[in-house]
Amino acid sequence: MTSSSAPTSEVPTAVVISIGEELLEGRVADTNAGTFARELLLHGLHVSALYTIGDGVGELQQLLATLTDKVDVILTTGGLGPTLDDRTRGDVAAALGVDIVPVPVPGAMAHLAEVYARYHPDQATEEFLAQASMPAGAEPLANAVGSAWGFMRNLGSRSRLYCLPGPPVECWSTFRAGGAAADLQQRFGAGAGLAHGVLHTAGAPESVVEEQVREFFSPGSNPRLGITASADQVSISVLARSEPAKASSASVLLESTLVELQRRLGHLWWGRDSQTLASLVVETLSARRQTVTVAESCTGGRLAAALTGVAGASDVFSFGWVTYSNEAKQQQLGVPQQLLVEHGAVSVEVAAAMAEGARRVSGADWSLAITGVAGPDGGTAEKPVGAVCLAICGPNTAYTLVRQQFARAGRDAIQRQSVRDALDMLRRALAGLPALG
Ligand code: AMP
Ligand code: MG
Repeated sequence: MTSSSAPTSEVPTAVVISIGEELLEGRVADTNAGTFARELLLHGLHVSALYTIGDGVGELQQLLATLTDKVDVILTTGGLGPTLDDRTRGDVAAALGVDIVPVPVPGAMAHLAEVYARYHPDQATEEFLAQASMPAGAEPLANAVGSAWGFMRNLGSRSRLYCLPGPPVECWSTFRAGGAAADLQQRFGAGAGLAHGVLHTAGAPESVVEEQVREFFSPGSNPRLGITASADQVSISVLARSEPAKASSASVLLESTLVELQRRLGHLWWGRDSQTLASLVVETLSARRQTVTVAESCTGGRLAAALTGVAGASDVFSFGWVTYSNEAKQQQLGVPQQLLVEHGAVSVEVAAAMAEGARRVSGADWSLAITGVAGPDGGTAEKPVGAVCLAICGPNTAYTLVRQQFARAGRDAIQRQSVRDALDMLRRALAGLPALG
């Protein structure tokens, strides 16, 4: 269990319970806890604890007994599937002393039987059909992407319980489209007194970003800031509380803080909340009716994957290259052999030639090239593991960048950092910002 100190104001509290033996054994990473910790925070709740429990008989019932009426919201994920170890319905019913009843939605069970029949020749099992049932007195939460219904119900006089399926996409759909989010909003959304936003930066390490905005980070201050660094970006999270005495709302405080942070961070800042560097450049290119291509070596296609991971990428991306060997760089992109011999594959000269060749052959408006040492082997004194050369070519634009990625983080992180830096080069070029040195 992880817990944090209580907030100073009267903010409703919540806990998340992740259920599944596979989580305790480390076979599946518990991503639901993080998703809902953040989501509940955005709904204005203070998440006081995250629990992970197994599928054992009565485990959930026991935990619920200790939490009932101690917190405002209890959100569980998992244990609603069709196998014998899925006990959430039974444990909740036992905690409440009520029966399990069919969800009051006409045709729900018949629909499950139909779904089963599509994949299996025999009749649906009792356990499979039980996925369309819930403890008496609960309200059903529809699952548009799976077979297990979720449900919500009061527990005691204070606690509101939301039970969602385990698979992350089902969990999210049942929460959002199924009706739990609307119920939370109605009960706790208005006047909750908390507002949360995240600001993303690229182009400088965490320490430099923090230096620009240091005075905002004093302990106990409102808003409360946090800084996190990953291979993809450095982000500053801002949690604002309303201060009734000053009659200032949390969202007004949040917005004014973000504006001030943006001012101080200048061109390091590029986006907010769920925005990604890839989504930003795809949107910008799309608005300008321009296209981009990529020539990748050490990132092996991850730059193309980042771009095509954005819905609508087909407007701006047609094709690209993964030229891993020297021969491929020469044959596909026309990189002169002499450059490879004189400077080596990991050099700004070769990166520039890759970008230039990719732009010329594809006819795209912009091109990005990456060549580097992803490790763990292959480093030299001159070009250690993590040394990466990047290049961009575009209308009236052509320049290169050398980066020494944080190599101890490993091959995967070096690749991600390189994708980030390439996307940031394009972001800067599109915004007319100066190149990073
Ligand atoms: P269940 O609803 O308990 O049958 O869960 C079905 C599957 O969802 C599990 O086998 C996991 O692969 C996945 N799952 C369950 N809980 C989580 C969680 N907290 N985070 C991520 N995946 C999960
Ligand atoms: Mg399970």
